[in-house]
Amino acid sequence: MATGRFAPSPTGVLHLGNLRTALLAWLFARSSGGRFLMRVDDLDPVLSDADHEAQQLADLAELGVEWDLPVVRQSERRSAHEAALAELAAAGLTYECWCSRREILEASEAPHADLRAGTVPPGAYPGTCRDLTGEERRERAAQGRPAAVRLRSAGGSVTVVDRLRGPVTTVIDDVVLRRNDGVPAYNLATVLDDADMGVEEVVRGDDLLSSTPRQAHLADLLGRARPTWAHVPLVVGADGDRLAKRHGAVTMADLAAEGVDGAGVRALLATSLGLAAPGEAVTMQQLLDRFDPAALPTDPWVI
Ligand code: GLU
Repeated sequence: MATGRFAPSPTGVLHLGNLRTALLAWLFARSSGGRFLMRVDDLDPVLSDADHEAQQLADLAELGVEWDLPVVRQSERRSAHEAALAELAAAGLTYECWCSRREILEASEAPHADLRAGTVPPGAYPGTCRDLTGEERRERAAQGRPAAVRLRSAGGSVTVVDRLRGPVTTVIDDVVLRRNDGVPAYNLATVLDDADMGVEEVVRGDDLLSSTPRQAHLADLLGRARPTWAHVPLVVGADGDRLAKRHGAVTMADLAAEGVDGAGVRALLATSLGLAAPGEAVTMQQLLDRFDPAALPTDPWVI
């Protein structure tokens, strides 16, 4: 029995890929007899909006994905995020970083001695601001560019074992903990919120697989239990690219306009998962009865 969750970012409309991941997250949790929780990842004040949130939750409900307990919003958990940051800072495990994205990209193209122990996760930080002197820090602060806060990692690598993808090892880098606009970073917030919500198994798209060892490491540092993970294949268009508007009718609203209702979308997703015959109507309970994690397709679903 494992408590699961779905954690959409309310920055747009859910497409078939997101909906399929949500359905799978629900199936993993419910088939284990566990609770299923909903979290809205609305930390980004510019990209998130309440209309998208309401639409996403309505689409999920129409699909048949229901959840226990009230929805958790990350924006309402800022004090928990800040308390964890303060804890890491007090342990000497953080530093301020003034680098821009471009500077990091340029610097990380150079080979770096600390990043040899495993696969380097995308965006790994080359350490530019890690050992600035007090004087150098004051200079940067005086220029007025706000600082991000990074983890002062001890190096080395971390391995997690994904339920579907097996072992994944990445180097532990100085991941951002608080962005330079003051917003708690995704990796920190997701680890804290999953742990505090009692999430035991994280089911999500496999674009997040490479961030998972970092998250496991943060959970360890913060004294939180690691969940287990199952990263599910993404949905791609016929051109092999990640699903997007240009691929046609990919949202519930698009499909509704073509006469496909929530049950129709469920049937479509079920077929893609090998859980229904093409065109067969299925209930959530039937899907639950048929669901076998070991038999899931592992390749991306091509629409
Ligand atoms: N909110 C993130 C997203 O929509 C997902 C985070 C997660 O599942 O850990 O990509």
